[in-house]
Amino acid sequence: MTTTTKFKSWRVQEQGGEYTGSEQTVSTSDLPANEVLIKVSHSSLNYKDALSASGNKGVTRNFPHTPGIDAAGEVIESASGEPVVGSKVIVTGYDLGMNTDGGFGEYVRVPASWCVALPQGWNGRTAMIYGTAGLTAGLCVQKLLQMGASPEQGKVAVSGASGAVGSVAVELLSKLGFDVVAISGKQDHADELKALGASEVVGREALAAEKKPMLKPVFANAVDTVGGQPLAELLKQIQPGGSVSCCGLVAGPQLETTVLPFILRGVNLLGVDSVEIPLADKAAVWKKFAGEWACPKTEASARDIGRGQLDGALRAFLKGESSGKIVLDHA
Ligand code: NDP
Repeated sequence: MTTTTKFKSWRVQEQGGEYTGSEQTVSTSDLPANEVLIKVSHSSLNYKDALSASGNKGVTRNFPHTPGIDAAGEVIESASGEPVVGSKVIVTGYDLGMNTDGGFGEYVRVPASWCVALPQGWNGRTAMIYGTAGLTAGLCVQKLLQMGASPEQGKVAVSGASGAVGSVAVELLSKLGFDVVAISGKQDHADELKALGASEVVGREALAAEKKPMLKPVFANAVDTVGGQPLAELLKQIQPGGSVSCCGLVAGPQLETTVLPFILRGVNLLGVDSVEIPLADKAAVWKKFAGEWACPKTEASARDIGRGQLDGALRAFLKGESSGKIVLDHA
């Protein structure tokens, strides 16, 4: 039976081209007519949420809107019977928080095909410490491993290292035995990055624009979370046969490169999507993070915020000032 419940949601309104988020009381009857109603305990903050909240029409077309591309919580209604009522689930990506009201509200209603069972031993908060950013870091590392990356080959670079994706990539790669070079614009975060497992922290100038089409190959492999010019420079510095997992665009969506890294050094540029991939692929990475890929330092250092702190936290993402993992706790 479908019941109607009033709940709190952080809604973004559009007025005269300005976008403002605030706490509103809404109703489950306002949610889209999907199969599974979830009471969200926690969400996670991502760069894409900041884009949605600031009116980026490539992410969210219509307002008012509740951002939050991640949600973890308990199934309250399930029209198709799966997942079962009372079970705990994770929803990340697909259209959640884009044009489907997302995890910054206390309830979401989503298709059953978006729901992954919470891994054994996890609660909603643990899942949301990783969130889409952690999932993406895991997929980036998985792609490098699938290409045969191994610690013996040499250093692995992580750009945007202090960010939500980058910080998990640093810890996971270090845990897997890689010699990790964190590339970060935040000198004051060097100690945190070393604590996560980076052996070296270098500034963003390591990827500053150079006229030369090729540079000394210093990295065996890399995880790039920033895109744009820094990615083009990174490709010039990869050893023969090495790979770069590419997932982000904070430094811009354009990639101006020559083919030389590819045809002279056999470098591989690996695209990573965490949003539209099959649910089973997401579930496989969650299972790893709940087991042999657990990142205890990331888990211990995650920050919790309430809905009232969302505005400031999202603005920090847009300025490149955010760091580490931030969990939204609806309690
Ligand atoms: P964050 O803002 O947390 O991290 C990005 C980091 O990049 C910043 O912390 C900063 O790190 C660095 N940075 C910011 N601006 C610039 C700049 N102009 N030039 C160079 N470096 C910069 O974002 P997320 O980690 O959540 O996301 C990173 C990217 O990955 C985003 O573009 C996001 O959209 C994308 N993404 C893609 C997914 C996919 O499925 N493909 C899924 C999840 C995220 P520092 O100061 O340490 O240099």
